[in-house]
Amino acid sequence: MRLVLFGPPGAGKGTQAKKLQTKLGIPQISTGDILREARRQGTELGRRAAEYMDQGELVPDEVILELVRERLSQPDCRDGFVLDGFPRTIPQAEGLEGILEEMGRPLDRVVSLTVPDEVIVERLSARRVCGRCGQEYNLKTCPPRWDEVCDRCGGELVQRPDDRPETIRERLRVYKEKTEPLGSFYRERGLWAKVDGVGGVEEVFGRVRRALGIL
Ligand code: AMP
Repeated sequence: MRLVLFGPPGAGKGTQAKKLQTKLGIPQISTGDILREARRQGTELGRRAAEYMDQGELVPDEVILELVRERLSQPDCRDGFVLDGFPRTIPQAEGLEGILEEMGRPLDRVVSLTVPDEVIVERLSARRVCGRCGQEYNLKTCPPRWDEVCDRCGGELVQRPDDRPETIRERLRVYKEKTEPLGSFYRERGLWAKVDGVGGVEEVFGRVRRALGIL
């Protein structure tokens, strides 16, 4: 199955995409994770992306499309994939359509997770990530056993620079301006499936599965 998980920052795209990866045996492709990994490794891509990411702005479309084209050409994507955090602009959606057309493998569905702004701000402010292994926590709903220490590897938990309140507001503004218009783009193509993203992880996953017709 070739899927896009769509929604604002903090909608739970990463969490639901990982569950679909396990359930369907297809890779989760998060452009945000790829960029953060490139930064950790200090590559040219990482350096170029850093300034945009820390301001809550979008990395230029050409950079993202090149990265996605390369990733989708890898053998593990042959039987499908879940895109998470991509596409985020109309040019990215058009670029993706072109790439998939060349491959002869069009998208099957775009699942849109809807979450009100106040829930997003609450979720993102409480998000912490392990600086060593990347495991995510939420101080309210999924806290670590010990304050600021990763349960999995003992690494220190940090707040993503773009999860600070002023940057969250900017990310939401950018989302509404650049990303929300993709709703009509995919509705016109009959691919859009809207899912309520408020609730526990399993509850939302049940809705996602129903929207995709998987048991
Ligand atoms: P995310 O983890 O998906 O919230 O992405 C974190 C940051 O990476 C975003 O705020 C952007 O700066 C950048 N980014 C990730 N995916 C994209 C994309 N598809 N287009 C442009 N920028 C992106």
